Amino acid sequence: MQSIGDILKDEKLDEHSTWLETLESVSADDVQRELSQSPGRFRLNRLLTLVSPAAETFLEEMAQQAQALTTQRFGRTIQLYAPLYVSNYCVNRCRYCGFNSTHDFDRRRLTVDEAVADAGIIASEGFRHILLVSGEDRTGVPPEYFCALATRLRGRFSSIWIEIYPLTCEEYARLFAAGIDGVALYQETYDRSVYADWHQAGPKSAYDHRLDSPDRFAQAGMRRIGLGVLLGLADWRAETLALSRHAAYLMKKYWKAQVSFSFPRIRPAYEVCDQFDHLVGDTELVQMMLALRLCFADAGIVLSTRESAALRDRLTGLCVTSMSAGSKTNPGGYTGKHTTEQFTIDDSRTPALVAAMIRSAGREAVWKDWDTAFSA
Ligand code: SF4
Repeated sequence: MQSIGDILKDEKLDEHSTWLETLESVSADDVQRELSQSPGRFRLNRLLTLVSPAAETFLEEMAQQAQALTTQRFGRTIQLYAPLYVSNYCVNRCRYCGFNSTHDFDRRRLTVDEAVADAGIIASEGFRHILLVSGEDRTGVPPEYFCALATRLRGRFSSIWIEIYPLTCEEYARLFAAGIDGVALYQETYDRSVYADWHQAGPKSAYDHRLDSPDRFAQAGMRRIGLGVLLGLADWRAETLALSRHAAYLMKKYWKAQVSFSFPRIRPAYEVCDQFDHLVGDTELVQMMLALRLCFADAGIVLSTRESAALRDRLTGLCVTSMSAGSKTNPGGYTGKHTTEQFTIDDSRTPALVAAMIRSAGREAVWKDWDTAFSA
């Protein structure tokens, strides 16, 4: 099987400009034809049609199909999780991020004991799914740190994900053995030249190494694969094409794992300029989510507290399957440490209030949907 890098190159999905004209050429008849097909299966041309400008006027119909498909595949449930930031040190210089190594602020990394204390608060709020997050701080929080932390947490959490720097396959396998079962790793942008512009230094400047990371953690046995792009860096329609191609490739090759999509939109952050040419509006975000659902019936759709309470409320019954709540994006935030956050969250409601909102939308808030005993 070809590598994902070769596939994207062959189909020119890593050069977004080549797709913009094709997206514009989609007609209303094309969209209607696509919406008359049974939903849930991926074809690049189908996805292209559903993210095209022509599909904007069909959002209501897309929403109805997405809602029915999500209920059919996932029931009336939304799984809840909380992120735990363990370090805001980073060697990279992503120009959109508050943790950028050139930014001058008091950095902080948690000891394993401190991280366990923050996790204790998260567990006391009801969460059984936790996401461990860190900047690229391999020296301060190496793979052994995450193994030690996961070993301490796995009795209290039924699922532990990480969102950290890329690792080798062997390192991912060690983390999996320690109890970590999912990895979220976003390509940020699939357009090579845009990627190079936003990531000019540090290990993250290696586009292909990042692109191959999901292969490495899927090979290591991870059950959950989190993909996404940072919305605001490049044209979102072309990004969605490349993202969908990556997801289809992974689903075919690692069919036992579940792929989920996240939709991080650029948020205000410490010392970050606000010169972003491709900011994504609410309607566009919704179109992207619906289009992906209508092409990937079984993919998780994740919506974080980056988004406003009002938008999260509206999307709860549509296609979302997983939400964060009560999030702190700074190390030690749950135990009240005053450290710099990666970005400002928008929905600051408590987990209990988010769960109540989910119930009032006719869905069930699920704190635990997996137990490690299932995979034993
Ligand atoms: S996005 Fe991640 S890798 Fe880049 S500077 Fe921020 S924390 Fe570091």
